[in-house]
Amino acid sequence: ARETYVAARPKSAAIHAKAREVMPGGNTRTVLFYTPFPTAMVRGEGTTVWDADGHAYLDLCGEYSAGLFGHSEKRILDAVKAAMDRGINLAAVGEKEGMLAALICGRFPSVEQVRFTNSGTEANIMALAGARGFTGRTEVMAFRGGYHGGVFTFPVGVPVSAVNLPIPMRFADYNDPAGAAAAIREAGDKLAAVIVEPMQGSGGCIPATREFLQALRDATAETGALLIFDEVMTSRHGYGGLQQRMGITPDMTTFGKYMAGGMSFGAFGGRRDVMAVFDGHKPGALPHAGTFNNNVLSMAAGCVAMGEIFDEAAAEAHFARGERLRAALNAVCAKHGLAMHFTGAGSMLNPHFRAGPVTAPYKAAPAEEQMRELFFFDMLAAGIYLARRGMAALMLPTTDADCDRFVAAVEEFCAARKPVLT
Ligand code: PMP
Repeated sequence: ARETYVAARPKSAAIHAKAREVMPGGNTRTVLFYTPFPTAMVRGEGTTVWDADGHAYLDLCGEYSAGLFGHSEKRILDAVKAAMDRGINLAAVGEKEGMLAALICGRFPSVEQVRFTNSGTEANIMALAGARGFTGRTEVMAFRGGYHGGVFTFPVGVPVSAVNLPIPMRFADYNDPAGAAAAIREAGDKLAAVIVEPMQGSGGCIPATREFLQALRDATAETGALLIFDEVMTSRHGYGGLQQRMGITPDMTTFGKYMAGGMSFGAFGGRRDVMAVFDGHKPGALPHAGTFNNNVLSMAAGCVAMGEIFDEAAAEAHFARGERLRAALNAVCAKHGLAMHFTGAGSMLNPHFRAGPVTAPYKAAPAEEQMRELFFFDMLAAGIYLARRGMAALMLPTTDADCDRFVAAVEEFCAARKPVLT
């Protein structure tokens, strides 16, 4: 399989070889690295991407959830082009940022005020800075298996002492309501914030239980720590995010990914009294700088993406399509009696090469890692592009026929790999 992969991709191989000279590992994004060399993509249209060697793929990776609108949504392209025609860097506030802020505040229950950044990582950094400023406390609690950006990567099985962060951190186990509540109470008035993904995305598309989120809500309310939902990935799971679907309102929420139509984006928002720590009208306001925070391309695309395209009906239909797809995939796994199943919520899903259910993140065994690798390369060979870990993040233009094609490819994988999987 490896030989076939290499033989079919001379141009990707050459791109990698050149890049390796001047970038460590030949790329600038850890998630895109895999051996022997990653497939280089050169073009996208709708739900199709083409690699440098001319192969076409059904794009189910969806730019790790930032590609919600597909590669050629005309309204977004028009908005970006119109913004470009008026000048890209204006070094000033503009009208669009207030419009996009109003759209976001209007739909997420926890967000009374919001500010923009360039990425989800920065949004989390700023939300934590805000929480620390507001509470006057220093420590932050996160969960094993969580991911909140490049500097906030907390894989299961990595000693906490190895996490090199400028913020003093505490960790608890995901989906363990009693354990997390006890840890929050123990931290008491040292704890400024608890940050949690309502579905762990990078950790394997593992949704939080309602009971777990409620325990975090109750315990933080008791101790005065702020509860921050990282909805960088999950805000697509409902018109008002996963928080609205779960019926739990955090104090702050962070966003990113698809919200600016695919342009670079991040945002953090929350209660008006908390966000007031950034209010420049007040003496001693916390600084929040960033040359590209309100860049006109992201602001213009965001207004169209959130104001015109991803409305309530679109959000619900998209969530439902993903639920149907996951059910169909799991029916295939069950039919073949494999130790394999898909977790997730709505339009995002992830395979696990073990018997279900998976309700908490885990350190995969070498055999599981091997299956994950096989799955990714088998899907590529079948013309389906996923995240390397197998995650899919459906785009709005993804059709039922696209989903059927994925299910058929997974069925073939199950049949072919049955001897190793059972
Ligand atoms: N939080 C979560 C939950 C994410 O999934 C990601 C990105 N995968 C981030 C934060 C970081 O966002 P960005 O890559 O835009 O910095």
